[in-house]
Amino acid sequence: MYQAKKAGRSTLRFFDPAMQEAIQWRVTLENDLRQALEQQQFKLYYQVQVDFLHHAIGVEALIRWIHPERGLISPFDFIPVAEETGLILPIGQWVLEAACAQIKAWEQNEQTRHLTVSVNVSAKQFRQPDFVSTVKSIIAFYAIDPTLLKLELTESLLLDNIEDTISTMNNLKESGIVFSLDDFGTGYSSLQYLKRLPLYQLKIDQSFVRDIAADNNDQMIIRTIIAMAHMLDLNVIAEGVETMEQQQILLSNGCTHYQGYLFGKPMPIEAFEATLDRL
Ligand code: C2E
Ligand code: MG
Ligand code: MG
Repeated sequence: MYQAKKAGRSTLRFFDPAMQEAIQWRVTLENDLRQALEQQQFKLYYQVQVDFLHHAIGVEALIRWIHPERGLISPFDFIPVAEETGLILPIGQWVLEAACAQIKAWEQNEQTRHLTVSVNVSAKQFRQPDFVSTVKSIIAFYAIDPTLLKLELTESLLLDNIEDTISTMNNLKESGIVFSLDDFGTGYSSLQYLKRLPLYQLKIDQSFVRDIAADNNDQMIIRTIIAMAHMLDLNVIAEGVETMEQQQILLSNGCTHYQGYLFGKPMPIEAFEATLDRL
């Protein structure tokens, strides 16, 4: 019935066992997520970010859920439910701690001590009144260089409470933390706001990168984003770079930082560290 109503009413939808399964999964998901937190079933994967010389400059930390029965679950399948249920708060806190612990561990090694770690922050997490103090106390606890921590925000976060957003960002920026605007180009950034936000970086969404070699529109959009970033004095990184051709087009338009399968997939820490020798 709900599916029929959602499709605009006065229509038929037939019961499908897959639907029932989806509903049941949604219910168990919440319980399982709580258990995942208690039993530490989450893991951070790391994906390299490189400059135009293909040198590793940092990583993005991407959460994975290793479910005891279902195996590896993508964040696309559980982050939305974590957000709805508020579980994103303890999960987000765990991600921040794990990322900062990694920055600390990398201090010991010549090869890794310069790497920045980008962490995705959900809107709900960012809006918590104690977000600034939480982040600062994690940094203090692990005694890390705050300039190595990069927080990725999405454009949807800029839609409301822009003054609060700016002041939260400024507060964290003062302690050295930098910000990247994730999935850039897919949301509704107002140029007015963009100018006022204390951002370090724009991250071009992978949907524009995907067809850059074949699609003139996408190429134009990317060229515009890069030019705009430069004018606003922002660094720009492209995500989802899979081919040399894509990287060449990005480079010829002035984008010198990349993340994507061409340089490395997200992988567990042991596998990631093993690739560093080869980069
Ligand atoms: P995102 O932050 O935009 O991350 C980029 C996504 O693109 C990642 O998906 C990554 O695996 C994928 N990707 C990277 N390079 C390529 C490529 O060359 N080709 C293609 N096709 N894909 C590529 P992933 O890891 O499944 O994460 C999905 C989304 O889940 C992330 O999008 C982010 O929004 C969210 N997410 C991940 N970890 C966290 C987290 O710790 N906290 C929160 N709040 N959200 C997270
Ligand atoms: Mg991201
Ligand atoms: Mg993205």
